[in-house]
Amino acid sequence: MSGRAVRTQALAAATNRPSSIPPGSSIETPSELFGRNVFSKTVMQSRLPKGVYESLQATVDEGARLDPSVADVVASAMKDWAAEHGASYFAHVFYPLTGLSAEKHDSFLDTDGAGLAISNFSGGSLVQGEPDASSFPSGGIRETFEARGYTAWDVTSPAYILENPNGNTLCIPTAFVSWTGEALDKKTPVLRSQQALNVQAQRMLRLFGHEDPPRVSCFAGAEQEYFLIDRNFYFARPDLMSTGRTLMGAAPPKGQEFDDHYFGAIPERVLSFMLDAEREMLKLGIPTKTRHNEVAPGQYELAPIHEEGNVAADHQQLTMSTLSRVAHRHGLVCLRHEKPFKGVNGSGKHVNWSLGNAEQGNLLNPGDTPHANAQFLVFCAAVIRGVDKHGAVMRAAVASSANDHRLGANEAPPSIMSVFLGDQLADVFEQVAQGGGATTSKEHGTLKVGADTLPQLPKDPGDRNRTSPFAFTGNRFEFRAVGSSQSISGPLVVLNSIVADSLDYLATEIENAVDGGADFNEAVQDVLKDVMTKHGRVIFNGDGYAEEWQVEAAARGLPNLRSTPEALAAYETKEAQDLFDRLDVLTPRELHSRFEAYMAQYVMSIGVEARSTLELARTLIYPAVKRFQSNLATTETNLVALGLGGDTETLTRVTDLIAQLIGATAPLGRAIEGLPGDSPIGEQGNYCRDEILPAMTAVRAATDSLEEIADDELWPLLTYQEMLYIK
Ligand code: ADP
Ligand code: MG
Repeated sequence: MSGRAVRTQALAAATNRPSSIPPGSSIETPSELFGRNVFSKTVMQSRLPKGVYESLQATVDEGARLDPSVADVVASAMKDWAAEHGASYFAHVFYPLTGLSAEKHDSFLDTDGAGLAISNFSGGSLVQGEPDASSFPSGGIRETFEARGYTAWDVTSPAYILENPNGNTLCIPTAFVSWTGEALDKKTPVLRSQQALNVQAQRMLRLFGHEDPPRVSCFAGAEQEYFLIDRNFYFARPDLMSTGRTLMGAAPPKGQEFDDHYFGAIPERVLSFMLDAEREMLKLGIPTKTRHNEVAPGQYELAPIHEEGNVAADHQQLTMSTLSRVAHRHGLVCLRHEKPFKGVNGSGKHVNWSLGNAEQGNLLNPGDTPHANAQFLVFCAAVIRGVDKHGAVMRAAVASSANDHRLGANEAPPSIMSVFLGDQLADVFEQVAQGGGATTSKEHGTLKVGADTLPQLPKDPGDRNRTSPFAFTGNRFEFRAVGSSQSISGPLVVLNSIVADSLDYLATEIENAVDGGADFNEAVQDVLKDVMTKHGRVIFNGDGYAEEWQVEAAARGLPNLRSTPEALAAYETKEAQDLFDRLDVLTPRELHSRFEAYMAQYVMSIGVEARSTLELARTLIYPAVKRFQSNLATTETNLVALGLGGDTETLTRVTDLIAQLIGATAPLGRAIEGLPGDSPIGEQGNYCRDEILPAMTAVRAATDSLEEIADDELWPLLTYQEMLYIK
């Protein structure tokens, strides 16, 4: 089938789709559905012997070591529960460095000596698995002679049932490590970083007089942006299928308004999808609330209620796969790419982050007493210092070829890491920086840290922080630079680590001052002042999109790492190695393996994009525009023969653009050929950025210009207008 025929057929299929929406399978309320498929605390409490349950909960709540003797008991209870939920298989789910989730399914089925089927699931199978996982990226850690990787049950993230019309599976979240115990995955460092954060946060809380503070965790709520398009369109665009984004496509006609009247059915179809997806997520214990997002046509957003970081990360992975799965049911495809359509707003994943515990609550909540406020300011200061010291590492944690299209372009937070505090809190910190003693708050009289209360800080941040990559929003920080397709684990590891590191530093300073005879409040005041003096430059409340900020940030000495190779280089620095090593989050070898794996991903992604661009240009666009050129020439000749000709302008323009296309495809081919595949991966990454990406851009410039002029009857690719507006 020709390209144009594929386009025509996709359009027909999408527009002739029955307008009736399949009714949902259930009418249960969210509270009836919530956690139905989760081996939750409540389920465990009712099914496990008291001692076993308590031992398990100590592991979950306090981070205590898992008592091996409980595993068999838990496994048996879990198997019975899973069987009642129709599961005949179990799977260890793990989170390799690809950022996707991986599963290895095993049957509960076993045979006894006589060949009869028995159902079996031991503590051993629950606690440890050995997936044949040699093909997952390990960044050089796992060479083939030591290819084994083990999955280890993560007790802190609940097991759940994954439903399928043909049978259900018990899924067990696991960490994935090499036989030497090195982290091969994204979960292990999250768990380690939470541990590091807990140690330092508890230490700080003790300094503030809380004698035996409960375990401190980080909390995360990740807002997920995504596009929905009709799946017929997806399958008719080879670039979307192979790369997740359109590699070609002219902007829809300028000035076009997005008129609901064309597409009255969109909200209903999309809402139907959302309700369905939400129901699936509720069953899995993911506390979602959905909403539309009107920033770009066809773009939507979903936000969960925040949860403990590790669980939030697992739930985020499940959210992404559920969105994709449910979209298919509705004849849609969920595009999670950061920039599926050029010139149209991209998608992010705003990771809301805070830390707290059961007694002191959210430690980023301004308090009601002077003492609580001093404590709040110290935790905030720890974040500020962390971002300033390790902004490059934060940038590295959100680096990918896809996210490069957002960061550093002029629509999304820039690739400069800065902190937005809001005017009032920024004012408080500025005054802290100006000296000890009493200071004046902008609106509320004088303020002395540890003696006076803070001015009332606005709880509702509204829209005013949209241009900041990292914004304080009343009782948490919102990391807005994270990409829509990314795992939130990397960002959580970095946030937990840089804050743990800062808390360690601040606690030491305060301890030393107090040991030296200083008054506690004075010591706190001094340490806050010190942080502001050294790190206040990272606070920026202005417009992050503005050109002037780029200049000012440079003057302030803040790094501006525009591309993934520049950003990932931060993982190779001594500062980053020391940071993660000191906190026992990642050894230098593990950190380096991440640099290798993520850079390899960058190189592979751009390679696929480049080859797809070349193929589209040569096999679809070129033949179509040659036909158009030939048709034009024939028509013109005929018209001239009749004495009606004379318009050669279009023909000339098409001919020029075809020459431009040919002139761009050959260099792209050479650029692809020229990849120095034997060089260190960092050099390959630089080559992709400096040679291949510009060559792709040149081809696209020609094809997009051709699309604007070519006969629509001949154009082989679905247009932006068709994909974004027809639902
Ligand atoms: P807004 O509309 O201002 O963005 P929402 O209440 O919708 O605020 O919250 C957005 C996200 O922030 C949600 O995913 C929510 O769970 C998360 N969030 C709220 N409070 C916290 C917190 N203390 N820690 C982490 N995430 C939080
Ligand atoms: Mg928000």
